[in-house]
Amino acid sequence: MQGGNGSGRSLGELERENAELRLFRTVFNMASEGMMVTDEANRILAVNPAFTKITGFEAADVVGSTPGCLRSGQHDAAFFETFWGELRSKGRWEGELWNRRKSGEVYRTWLSIATQLDHRGAIHRHMGIFRDVSEARDTADKLWEKTNFDPLTKLPNRSLFLDRLLQALVLAGRSNKRAALVFVGLDGFKNINDTLGHTIGDKVLEEAARRFHSAVREGDTLARFGGDEFTAVLTDIATVEEVEQVVRALLECLAEPFLIENHQILISCSIGISLWPGDGSDVEAVMRNSTSAMRKAKEAGRNTFQFFTPSMDARAQARSRLASELSDALEHDEFTLVYQPIIHVPTGRVAGAEALLRWHNRFIGAVSPDQFVPLAEEMGLILPIGDWLLTAACREAATWHNLTKTPLRVAINVSPRQVQQGDIASALERALEVTGLSPDVVTVEITEGLLLASGGEVLKKIHRIRDVGAKIAVDDFGTGYASLSYLKTFPVDILKIDRSFVSKVMDNAEDARLIEAIIALGHSLGMQIVGEGVETAEQLAFLTDRGCDLIQGYRYSPPLAAERFKEYVAANERA
Ligand code: C2E
Ligand code: CA
Ligand code: CA
Repeated sequence: MQGGNGSGRSLGELERENAELRLFRTVFNMASEGMMVTDEANRILAVNPAFTKITGFEAADVVGSTPGCLRSGQHDAAFFETFWGELRSKGRWEGELWNRRKSGEVYRTWLSIATQLDHRGAIHRHMGIFRDVSEARDTADKLWEKTNFDPLTKLPNRSLFLDRLLQALVLAGRSNKRAALVFVGLDGFKNINDTLGHTIGDKVLEEAARRFHSAVREGDTLARFGGDEFTAVLTDIATVEEVEQVVRALLECLAEPFLIENHQILISCSIGISLWPGDGSDVEAVMRNSTSAMRKAKEAGRNTFQFFTPSMDARAQARSRLASELSDALEHDEFTLVYQPIIHVPTGRVAGAEALLRWHNRFIGAVSPDQFVPLAEEMGLILPIGDWLLTAACREAATWHNLTKTPLRVAINVSPRQVQQGDIASALERALEVTGLSPDVVTVEITEGLLLASGGEVLKKIHRIRDVGAKIAVDDFGTGYASLSYLKTFPVDILKIDRSFVSKVMDNAEDARLIEAIIALGHSLGMQIVGEGVETAEQLAFLTDRGCDLIQGYRYSPPLAAERFKEYVAANERA
C-alpha cells in the first residue's frame, strides 16, 4: 500500500493498479479468516468483516486502538516477549493464541502475523490473519482425552501410562537414575461392587484416585490401569527409600474410611514394585514383574507392599503354565472328586461327605485346590468346572442310597463367583434331574466372604438354592468378619467352624472361647455345627463336649476316592 501515484505512470497502469486494489479489497472483505492491519505503534488501521464475525468487535470499536482488547489473559509476559522477539527478528510469527471475544468468551485462534518494513528498514505495518480453531481443537482435545484418559477418575489410562512408562525408562537410562513402577491393586473392591452396587463402587474408585493422586509426588504419573488397578511411574529415583516413602503414602492415604452415601467404607490396597534398570529388560517385563510383586503382597495378607524379586518371575511363569493347563483340564477329563466323611457325633455314624475337587494334570501332576480353585475363579473357568462338579457329585451321591438307613448327605462347595455370576440354583436343578438325586440330601457350601459381599442379588440366589430343596452351609466360618447376629438375616442351615480355629483350640484360650460362642449362638439360631479339620482326640473331645453336632477331619478320615468312601461307610455300619 505504498502511497503516491508519482509521475511516469500511464493511465493503463493506473487502471490496472485500481483493478488490483479492487481485487484485494474483495479478498479482504470475503475472506473467512479474520484480518487486521496495524501500524508501527501497533494501532489497528483496518479489520475485515471476518474479524468482526470472529471477535465480535466492529471496525469502529477497534480502529485506532491496539489489539489489547482481544487479549484473553491466558498468556503470560514471557509468551509475549518471545512473540515480539520472533516477530522483530524473523518478521513473522505463527502459532496458537488464546483471545477473548467482545462477549467475553475465550477462544483459540491460529494466527499468522507478518511485519512490513519501510524503505529505511523500520517496522511499518503488521498484518495478522487468524482462524478460530476452538472447535477443531476442542474436538481434537476430546478425542485425545478419550483415548488417553479414564473417564471416571480422569487419570491417564493404560495406553497413556504405557507411553509414559516407556519414556521414563528411556530417560532413566540416559540420566543414570532409576525409575520405579508401582502397581496398586485395591483389596476386596469386588466385594464393595457386589454389596453396595456399581454406583458406589465407582465413587470408591474416584475417591481412591483422588487420594492416590495426592500421595504421589508432583511429576509422577499416576494412572488407572484398569478395573481396580492403579499404576504409578516414579522417575528420578536415587534411593529405594524414596520409593518406599511414596508407597507408604499410597497405603496410608486409604486409612481413613471413605464416606459415600452414608456408607462408611474401609478399603486397603496391595502394592507391587519393580525397579528399572534391574527388574526386567523391557516395558512388558517390568510390568509383569510389578504385577507378580503385587500378587505376592496380596498373598502376604494385603494392605502391604512387595518389591519384585527374581523368584517371583519364576512363580509368575509357573502360574501362567498352570493357567494354560487348567484351561484344558475339563476337556482332558483331568478332574476327579474325593469324598471326606462327616461324622454325626452322638451316634458315631457317617452322616455324609464333603465332595472335594482334585486335579491331576498329565504334565504337572497333582495340583492342590488351594492353588487352582482361585486361579479358576480368576480365569472364569470356575463356572464350567462348577457345573461339571455338581453333576459328578450328585451322580456319585445317588449311588449311596442303600448304604445306610438315614440317607447320606453330600456337601458341595461353590465358589463366590459361581453364585454371583452363574445361576447356581438352575445348575443344581439340572444336576438333580439328570442324576435322579433327591435335593433333600444336598448341602451347598458357600463361604463367609460371599455373605459379607452379599447384596440383594446374592441373597435371592441363596434363597433360590433353598427353594430347590438343598441346605446351605457356611464354610470356613470365623475367618471373615461376619458376626453371628449378621448371620441371622441369611437362610443358613449349617455352620462349619474353620479348621484354623480347631487346630488352635487346645493352646489358645481365645479360639476356644470363640468356638464355644459359635456353637452356642449357632444352635440358638437353629443351625447345625460342623467342626472342620479335627485331627486329634483332644480337639474331638473339646468340640463334642460343647455340643458340636458333626465332625470332619483326619481324626476320622482324610478325603477318600469314591469307592473307598463307600467301603468306609460299609465298615462303619458294621461296627
Ligand atoms: P474347604 O472347603 O474348607 O475344604 C476342607 C479342606 O480341609 C480340604 O482341603 C480337606 O482336605 C482339608 N481337611 C479336611 N480335614 C482336615 C484335617 O483334619 N486337617 C487338615 N489339615 N486339613 C483337613 P482341600 O481338599 O485341599 O481343599 C481346599 C480348599 O479348596 C477347600 O477348602 C475349598 O475351599 C477348595 N475346594 C476344594 N474342592 C472344591 C470344589 O469342589 N469347589 C470349590 N469351589 N472349591 C473347592
Ligand atoms: Ca468346604
Ligand atoms: Ca472349610
